[in-house]
Amino acid sequence: MTGANDDHAAAGETDCHAALKDLQFFLDGECGAAVQRLIIQHLHDCPPCEHRADFERELRVFIAMKCKDVAPSGLLDRIRVMLQQIE
Ligand SMILES: [Zn+2]
Repeated sequence: MTGANDDHAAAGETDCHAALKDLQFFLDGECGAAVQRLIIQHLHDCPPCEHRADFERELRVFIAMKCKDVAPSGLLDRIRVMLQQIE
């Protein structure tokens, strides 16, 4: 067992904390390019965080689908009319 491994583990935990802290912004596309690069790099190196990100991403898709399901038909008609007006 070496000290180098301990250092790596500690740094990894800090990275996880930072990556997960900004994960919501990352998934919403609201973080800066530098943060985006850091998180992509971290997810590549860290399977647990990658799974977490995948889960959050699927959750967003699921919620988006649910929102579509419960959208009142009147709203859909209004959107359809708006789209026709644009064309
Ligand atoms: Zn991580």
